Amino acid sequence: MIKLSKKTALAALAFMAVGSTASAQGWPADWTKATTPYRIVGNVYYVGSEGIASYLISSSQGHIVIDGGMPEGAPLIEASIRKLGFKVEDVKILLNTHAHIDHAGGLAQLKADTKARLYASKADEESLEKGVHVGDNDNGAVAYPAVKVDRTVKDLQTVKLGEVAITAHLTPGHTTGCTTWTLPVVERERALNVTFYCSTTVAGNVLIGNRAHPRIVDDYRASFAKLRMIPTDVFLPNHPGFADLAGKRQRLLRGEPNPYIDPTEMARFVDASAKAFEQELAKQENRR
Ligand SMILES: [Zn+2]
Repeated sequence: MIKLSKKTALAALAFMAVGSTASAQGWPADWTKATTPYRIVGNVYYVGSEGIASYLISSSQGHIVIDGGMPEGAPLIEASIRKLGFKVEDVKILLNTHAHIDHAGGLAQLKADTKARLYASKADEESLEKGVHVGDNDNGAVAYPAVKVDRTVKDLQTVKLGEVAITAHLTPGHTTGCTTWTLPVVERERALNVTFYCSTTVAGNVLIGNRAHPRIVDDYRASFAKLRMIPTDVFLPNHPGFADLAGKRQRLLRGEPNPYIDPTEMARFVDASAKAFEQELAKQENRR
């Protein structure tokens, strides 16, 4: 991993929760802190750390895992899978939301341990296989363990495992191949749409004159428009703090109606994120 100064690393993490503490490397400590795994809705389970989400989708033919957390995150995800009563060897497919250290860092080890196939977008393939962010970023090229992509997915392509069918939506901007995944589930005989949201924060991305990602501003704006059109009952972002997943867990344990089901939440999140993006773009324009 390329060493960053604490200042630049923290600048990269403009999205980190206020008040969270940083590790010696400058990354938030909760990114590699274990937390109790649990079922969210239907056949979807939380198997991530306290600060970075990973999700398991179970099927009769094995499981799909979305995202691998930090480079040291794989053992933590595997322990969570076992705690839920599943077998790590039954993970057949690995998916990725985007090629950044905090969501792709643990994929190489997860892949080695499970022998699962990795599916990712064509545009993030190069980044995953080199193990480095592609595109100009104020924080430089943050490296992580490279991982071989077995199959690339196109926009609206569905990946199937047993009775599970999960669909890729290319939502570039945050990375060139940022991928949002949608999954129909059934919870107490109710059909619901689950969306695993790829990031839309700027997070140090150079928005003006980005040589490796010249269409970056158009990409972000098109992705916001696209994300607004995805019907979502259950909004699952790749950092749990974006949707207060831990707070919802407490409400669920108190016996409240499943708080993860909120058909208006993602639209509100997209609007707030689009607003923050335009503000950051204006800031970068003023800096020129
Ligand atoms: Zn990211």
